[in-house]
Amino acid sequence: MTAFVFNEVNFDNHEQVVFASEAKSGLKAIIAVHNTNLGPAMGGCRMWNYASEAEAVRDVLRLSRGMTYKNAVAGLPIGGGKSVIIGNPKTDKTPALFEALGEALERLGGRYITAEDVGTSPADMANVASKTKYVAGLGDRGDPSPFTALGCFVGAQAAVKHHFKRDSFDGLTVALQGLGHVGYDYARRLHEAGAKLVVADIDQNSLKRAQEEFGATVVDVNAIYDVEADIYAPCALGATLNPDTMNRLKVKIVAGGANNQLATPEIGEACRQKGILYAPDFVINAGGIIKVCYEYMNTPEDGMDAHVRRIGDTLAEVFARADAEGVPTSVIADRLAEERFKK
Ligand code: NAD
Repeated sequence: MTAFVFNEVNFDNHEQVVFASEAKSGLKAIIAVHNTNLGPAMGGCRMWNYASEAEAVRDVLRLSRGMTYKNAVAGLPIGGGKSVIIGNPKTDKTPALFEALGEALERLGGRYITAEDVGTSPADMANVASKTKYVAGLGDRGDPSPFTALGCFVGAQAAVKHHFKRDSFDGLTVALQGLGHVGYDYARRLHEAGAKLVVADIDQNSLKRAQEEFGATVVDVNAIYDVEADIYAPCALGATLNPDTMNRLKVKIVAGGANNQLATPEIGEACRQKGILYAPDFVINAGGIIKVCYEYMNTPEDGMDAHVRRIGDTLAEVFARADAEGVPTSVIADRLAEERFKK
């Protein structure tokens, strides 16, 4: 049999990869602890109808590694990990399934702390929590999205300062994709700071609200990449920076909350060559994990706002180093993380 974890392209010296199963509930989960140099690994639990176990392994290895980088750059005392449950989140969920996951986390003794993610909900996490204390973001103290939106806003401010050498959004146009939990709050902050908004969403109610509250101009979902704007703010989907959109975008800055914005790592260099200042996704969208970590560790929350606002300082450093070294901002963000978590 050929080994398929150590050979997997996303395997990056992960400390531990656990295959957790339980017959009665039918649990089939994979827990990947990428790195705990800075503290216990934290990252969400995704439930997805993976086409194969190999695909699930690939996903959990990739996502857990990403969490190490995100948590390190955010200056948090936690490492990176992630878990995936193989199954259809619409049809295969039972309380017993999540209780069994809780038991598996308990056996890991706190080396990995989970949270809600794509395909899982606060109710599922409450079932996990009935068996273990290693669950964060249980929702009893609020939604982390406004903190993600705050991080995006201060990140955009840092990008505007770096690129346009100014502090204000007055007269700048932002093409914002996705008026969801993060995007709507981010749009409100941009509007209050004087930016003009052009927005796209598949949800007509959100569009109507943004028109009424922010005077936003609505465009078709496929037209958002062609808007003449200063900033593109992806807050819906991954991989929207790809060869097609790179030929279409007419913006100077990309600053948004979506995860995995670059379709491939090479797009970071394409942005640089096109003169687009890209705020690396895992740096700018860390406000939510900062909130969840404070909550889980019972850190007094009076310093939390300032911690989220430091995302702006971190991005200013990323932009300055990228200019000085002539490399993409995405490469500098990775380096910054590695300087912090690699021993
Ligand atoms: P959400 O589901 O609340 O919002 C997504 C919005 O995008 C919805 O309004 C949806 O209608 C819209 N949308 C879907 N398809 C679209 C399309 N083709 N074009 C335009 N709009 C479309 O999700 P969210 O919590 O706001 O998260 C948004 C992004 O930010 C996701 O990529 C998520 O992974 C990432 N993120 C979120 C957080 C957080 O704190 N919520 C933290 C980090 C990263």
